[in-house]
Amino acid sequence: MYELVTETSTNLPYDVRRAIRAAKERENAGTRAALSLATITQNIDMADDNVLPICQDTGMLTFEIKVPVGANQIEMKKEIYEAIRQATKDGKLRPNSVDSLTGENSGDNIGPGTPIIHFEQWENDYIDARLIIKGGGCENKNIQYSLPMEIEGLGRAGRDLDGIRKCILHSVYQAQGQGCSAGFIGVGIGGDRISSYELAKKQLLRDVSDINDNPKLFELENYIMEKGNTLGIGTMGFGGEATLLGCKIGAANRLPASFFVSVAYNCWAFRRLGVTLDAESGTIQNWLYKEGEKISFKEDTETAAASEEPVREVVLQAPVTEEQIRELKVGDVVVINGDLHTGRDAIHHHLMDNDAPIDLNGQIIYHCGPVMLKDKEGEWHVKAAGPTTSIREEPYQGDIMKKFGIRAVMGKGGMGPKTLKALEEHGGVYLNAIGGAAQYYAECIKKVDGVDLMEFGIPEAMWHLKVEGFRAIVTMDSHGNSLHKDVDKTSFERLQQYSEKVFS
Ligand code: SF4
Repeated sequence: MYELVTETSTNLPYDVRRAIRAAKERENAGTRAALSLATITQNIDMADDNVLPICQDTGMLTFEIKVPVGANQIEMKKEIYEAIRQATKDGKLRPNSVDSLTGENSGDNIGPGTPIIHFEQWENDYIDARLIIKGGGCENKNIQYSLPMEIEGLGRAGRDLDGIRKCILHSVYQAQGQGCSAGFIGVGIGGDRISSYELAKKQLLRDVSDINDNPKLFELENYIMEKGNTLGIGTMGFGGEATLLGCKIGAANRLPASFFVSVAYNCWAFRRLGVTLDAESGTIQNWLYKEGEKISFKEDTETAAASEEPVREVVLQAPVTEEQIRELKVGDVVVINGDLHTGRDAIHHHLMDNDAPIDLNGQIIYHCGPVMLKDKEGEWHVKAAGPTTSIREEPYQGDIMKKFGIRAVMGKGGMGPKTLKALEEHGGVYLNAIGGAAQYYAECIKKVDGVDLMEFGIPEAMWHLKVEGFRAIVTMDSHGNSLHKDVDKTSFERLQQYSEKVFS
C-alpha cells in the first residue's frame, strides 16, 4: 500500500501521459497554452525522477478494492492508514485532512472520512486495489444536473440523450481553467444524487483509450471530446486547442421521478494507479494503467506550427514598484526573481483584522500551500509548491492589497470583478502560475527565509521564500483587462452554437 500511495502521488499513469502528449502536439508553439503544457510535462518528469508529489495538493485519497471472500478488511484498512501516515511523513503527501468545524489539520491525512475506502467482494482469488488522488481545485468543479432544466446558453435540456449532451458540454464550459485544465471528465447518468456522483467518479477508473460497451454512450463520449475541445478554453483557461483530455460516461437505473447527470472533473494531474496483489502474501503481482510504452517528455521538441503572436517576457525583481506593475499587460510572461510570500485562506482572513508579520509593501503574495519538510538541523525544505485556486480569496484580496501595499498576487484560475477593480485603482496585477506544476516551482525556490503564523498549520502558514526564474502569466492587469473574462465570453459564445438537437 505504501508503494501504491507513493507511486500514485509521484508517477502519472501511462494512458494519461499519452493523452497529454497528444494535447501537446495540437498546441501551436510559442502560445501561452503551449508554454503551459511544456511546464506541465517538465513537472511530470521531475516528479517521477525525484519521487516527489506531482502536485502539492494531496487531494482526497479514494481506494476501490476488490477482495476474495474471506479477506480481512479490518487488517487491510489498518495497513492503508499506516501507509498513508508514512507517505505523509516522507513528504510524498501533504497533510491534507482538516477538521470541518475547527479547521485543525490532523497532520497525517487520517481523520473522520479521510481516506475514502470502498471494498467489494469478488470471485477471483487475488486482490485488485486501485487508488485515485483527486485534488480540491478540480473537485470544486464537479457539477450535478437534475433534468429537465434550462441551461444558460443551451436552452432546455430534457430527459433524453440530447439533454444529457447539453449538461456535459456545459460542465466543460463552467470549469473554465479553474480545475487545472486540460482535464478528464467522468459522467454518471441516473442513480440518486449520491450514487450518480459515485458512478461519475468510477468512470475515472477506466483507461483513457478504452471503448464504451454501450454504442450510444461511445458516440456521446466522442462527440463531447470533439466539441469540448472547440470551446477554446485551453490549458489553465489561457485559450487554446486542448481543453479536454478524456471523457468517460456510464449509466445506471434511476427512479421515475428523478434524472441526474453528474460530472466528476479531474485536472491534468490525473493521479490514479492500481495493483493486483497476492491475497495470501500481499505482494504486488501487476501494476495497472502501466500498459504500453511509458512516455517521457524530456526529449520533446516543438512539433506544432509557431504562433504568429509570440508572448512578451518581462523579468521582475521582487519587491516591485507600482510603475513596473502598471507597465505589465495581460498575456505577458513574467519571470520573478527575489521575494515571494505565501498566503492562502487563513492568512487572508487573518490580515483583514490584523497587522502583517512583515512589511508587505511592494511584495508579491503567492496563493500556495506548499509541502515542507524539516531536516535534522531544523532547516525547512520545499518539496512541492504549485499554486492554489485564487477565487477563494476574492472577498479579501483587493482590500488586503490596498491595506499593505501589495503589488501582485499569484495563484491559479483567476479572480473576480472586485479584485480586478482593486488592481486598477491601486496598481496591481494578478499572475496565473501553472496549476499543479509543484515540482517545477519548488525547483525555482532557492531558499526559505522564514515562516510566520505557523499556528495555522504548514499549508496555511506564511512562508517567506527567495525565488529565481519563477514564471507566471499576467492574466489580470492594472488597466481593467482580464484574460479569464475574455476566455469565458468566447467559450460561452461557442457553447451556444451547440444548442441545436443532435441526438434523439
Ligand atoms: S493540478 Fe490543480 S486541480 Fe489538480 S490537484 Fe493540483 S492544484 Fe488541484
